[in-house]
Amino acid sequence: MKFEDYRISAQIKSQLKVLGFNKPTDIQFKAIDPILKGEDVLAIAQTGTGKTAAFVIPILEILEKKKSRGKQTEGVKCLVLAPTRELAIQISKVFESIGQNLKVVSACIHGGVEQDPQIAQLNKGVDILVATPGRMFDLVSQGHLNMKNLEILCLDEADLMLDLGFYKDIQDLLKHIPKHRQTLFFSATITLKIKKLAYSVVKNAIRIQISPKNPVAKNIDHAVVFIEMDDKRFFLENVLKEYEESKFVVFVRTKIRAERVVAAMERVMLKTEFLHGGVEQQERFAILDRFRKNENRVLITTDVAARGIDIPDVDYVINYDLPDVSENYVHRVGRTGRGNKRGQALSFCSKDEMVFLEDIEEYTGEEIQRFELTNGEYEDILGATDDGSYNWKKLIDEEGGGDEW
Ligand code: AMP
Repeated sequence: MKFEDYRISAQIKSQLKVLGFNKPTDIQFKAIDPILKGEDVLAIAQTGTGKTAAFVIPILEILEKKKSRGKQTEGVKCLVLAPTRELAIQISKVFESIGQNLKVVSACIHGGVEQDPQIAQLNKGVDILVATPGRMFDLVSQGHLNMKNLEILCLDEADLMLDLGFYKDIQDLLKHIPKHRQTLFFSATITLKIKKLAYSVVKNAIRIQISPKNPVAKNIDHAVVFIEMDDKRFFLENVLKEYEESKFVVFVRTKIRAERVVAAMERVMLKTEFLHGGVEQQERFAILDRFRKNENRVLITTDVAARGIDIPDVDYVINYDLPDVSENYVHRVGRTGRGNKRGQALSFCSKDEMVFLEDIEEYTGEEIQRFELTNGEYEDILGATDDGSYNWKKLIDEEGGGDEW
C-alpha cells in the first residue's frame, strides 16, 4: 500500500511526496490506521524504522480535520513528550515538514534556552506541543501551559524516559490532563517498567511490535575487530583515511576519551569534533548542525548521541569503545542505515571489553561477525600512522608507563 491510497488529506500526501516517503514503513503501516481510529497504541519499534512519522502523520490528520471543521477549543490539543532536547527538536521538525501546508500549529519547548520566547509562542496558540519533561513542568507550574482540552498524549522513547527517572513526572502530568484522551506510547524496548507505566496510563492499548528476534535493523552490516586498547586510535586513523569521503559517528565511553580521540586525530591531520553531555547546549546544537551539513564528517561522541537522533547519510558507526549497556549497542549502530538506506558498523574490542561483547551478543541473540586481521595487517596499520609521537609512546610503554587510550 502506498501513501496515495490512504484516507488522509491531500496536503499531507503532497508533503510526504516532497520528503520522498512513498510507501509506509512497517511501523507506519501498522500504527497509522489504529491511531486514526482513535485507539490507544503501545508501539515497540527499533530506532530508524520511521516511528516518528508513524505518529506524526495520524496526529496531524486528526487535528487538522477538527480544525478545518471549526471545532476549536483553547489550549494545547496534543502533547508529545521526548526524553532529550535534540530528539524533541527533531520530532518537531517532522511535524513542521509534514504539516507545512496545514492549519494546525506545532511548537517545541525544551530546557537549556530562554523560556520567554517559548511562552510568547504558546500565547499565540499552539495545537501540537513537543516538549522535554523538565521545561514542560516549569511552564505548567507557572500557569503558561493550558492542557485542559488535551486530546492526544504521545510518549516517545518511553523506555529512555523511564531510565532517566521521569516516571513520577509522567504520573504527575496525568493530573493536569483530561482522563478521556488518546494515549500513544512509542518505545524501542518492551520491559516490565514500560508495561507497568503503559498499563497505569491506559487499559486497553493496541500493542504493535516491530521487533524481529535480532533488534539490529536488517539493513545494517555490523562486525567486530579485536584491537588492543592502546592501538585503537591508529586503527581509527586508518579507517578515516581509507574512507575519506564517508560520514562517521564514533562512539567512546567517556567525555574525556571523546576529547582525547579528537586531539589524537588532530595530530594526524584529521578534522573531527566531539559531542558529549558536558558541552553547552547551544554548542551541542551547532555541532550536530555542522555534522548534518557535512561541514564536519566525523563526530566523536559519548552515548549522548546514541538514541533517537536522526542524522541522515551516516555511512559508518564505529564503536571505538564497546558500550557497557548492551541495549546501547543497538541504539548506536542504529545511527546508520536510516530509513531504507544501508549502513555499516564496526566495533573495536579490546581484551578487557570481551565481557561487553558477550553481553551484546546475548542481547541481540546472534554472534557479531568477526573482522579478521592477520598479525602482519595489524602491524602494518600501526606502522602507517602519521602520529609522530607514536614511537615515543612505544618507548615510554616499554619503560612501563603510558596512559590508557
Ligand atoms: P525515525 O525512525 O522516525 O527516526 O526515522 C528514520 C528515518 O527514516 C528518517 O530519516 C526518516 O526521514 C525516514 N523515513 C521515515 N518514514 C519513511 C518512509 N515512509 N519512507 C522513506 N523514509 C522514511
